[in-house]
This record gives sequence, C-alpha cells and structure tokens, in this order.
Amino acid sequence: MTTIQREGETDLAGRLAFVRAGIAEAAAANSRPLDEITLIVVTKFHPAGLVRELMDLGVTDFGESRHQEAREKVAELAGTPAAWHFIGQLQGKKAKQVAAYASVIHSLDRPSLADLLSAADVRPTAGPTDVFLQVNLTDDTGRGGVVPGGARELAEYVEALPGLRLRGVMGVAPLGEEPRFAFERLRAVSELVTQSVPRASAISAGMSHDYSEAIAEGATHLRIGSAITGIRAVAG
Ligand SMILES: *Cc1c(COP(=O)(O)O)cnc(C)c1O
Repeated sequence: MTTIQREGETDLAGRLAFVRAGIAEAAAANSRPLDEITLIVVTKFHPAGLVRELMDLGVTDFGESRHQEAREKVAELAGTPAAWHFIGQLQGKKAKQVAAYASVIHSLDRPSLADLLSAADVRPTAGPTDVFLQVNLTDDTGRGGVVPGGARELAEYVEALPGLRLRGVMGVAPLGEEPRFAFERLRAVSELVTQSVPRASAISAGMSHDYSEAIAEGATHLRIGSAITGIRAVAG
C-alpha cells in the first residue's frame, strides 16, 4: 500500500485518510479483519463544526471526555447520526446526565458508578447503555480505572445489573512504557473478563501515537484524537 500523505501536512480529510490507511495496515499486518475495528474520533476541545465535517467524511463515532463540553456539542448536533462515546473520568453526580446522550461509556471503573448508570430512569426510552470497564494500567492506584486484579469481579457485578450491557475493557497506555507491553496486560485482563462474560470481548485501546500496537494486541475500538483533528483549539 502506498501512503502518499505525510502526517501533519494535510487537511482534515487528508489526516483522516492517513489514519485510516494506518489502521488498515496494522490490521493486515496482524491478520485481523478490518471490520472488527471501530474508529472513534475524539473531538474534545474541538467545536461541533468539526464533528459535522467528520460526519461528511463518513465518521459516525465520536469520543468526548468532559461532560460540560460534550453536552453542548451533543445538543448542537441533535438529529444527526453521531454516536457519542464517553471516554473521560466520570463523577457519580454526572452519571445520569452522561448516560442520557452517550451510547457507550468507556470509563466504568467502580460498582457505585455501575449502580448509578443502571438506575431505571437513566435511559427511559433507549435500550441498555453499553459500557467498557476502564482498567488502570499504571502502578499508581490513584489513577482512574479498576486495578487489573479487580476487573473480573467488577465485570460480574456489572453483568448482574439491569440497564447495562458490558462490552469489554478499556485502557490507556501509561507514559514512559512501551505501549505494547501495557496493551498486552490489557489483553490478559480481557481474557479473564471473558471467562466470566464471554460476550464482553471488545477492547477499547489505542490513541494517536499507539494505535498500531493496540491493534496488534487485539483492540477493537480505537480512540483517536489529535492525529485526525490536528492541534486542539484552546478549550473554551
Ligand atoms: C484524549 C483522549 C484520547 C485521544 O488522544 P489523542 O492522543 O489525541 O489521540 C483517547 N482516549 C482518552 C481517554 C482520551 O482522554
């Protein structure tokens, strides 16, 4: 495959094409079918207009990490086919509001949050909320995510609740470590989780700089921001 564009020198369409080609290349190198990999474009710090441009380019899945910002964009884009993935740390008091617009929540990391998201009045008309268990891949237990050793128990807890559909595990590779090693650990956690919940085999992993390594370790949902959106505008 020839890739004619270099990263950073093109417009939005060019950057998206560059990343899509990179995903296809990594999938082929690892003998993985492309259709089992979902690209979520992370649009945090970018306006609704950019989301519209991306929809014109065929993107349907968008990631946001802050409720305040996401809520405004979602409202502006009501009636469009955009599907919203919430990928940031989620406070209990925001859980209900986020569940009202997010079709997928990637950052479920504790039973109390599962209880709140499961509550019957959270999504009165839509179906269950799809969730990923965020796994802490760092040594710092103060970071977001369930510790790897606690993931299976949390998966069983979530699976027993109404209103939630467990999709799999999510992780962010820590800085200062070869990302492939971190994604290897995430894959091991995924294997434990699927022993309890066989259907929950999805893996949300891989960002702008490490998506190839994530694909090599089985990622099914990539969360890619800056490589596609370019330099972020100042948050406002
Ligand atoms: C911002 C963010 C991403 C995207 O990061 P890029 O480096 O811009 O691709 C992915 N996952 C999470 C949890 C994020 O907060």
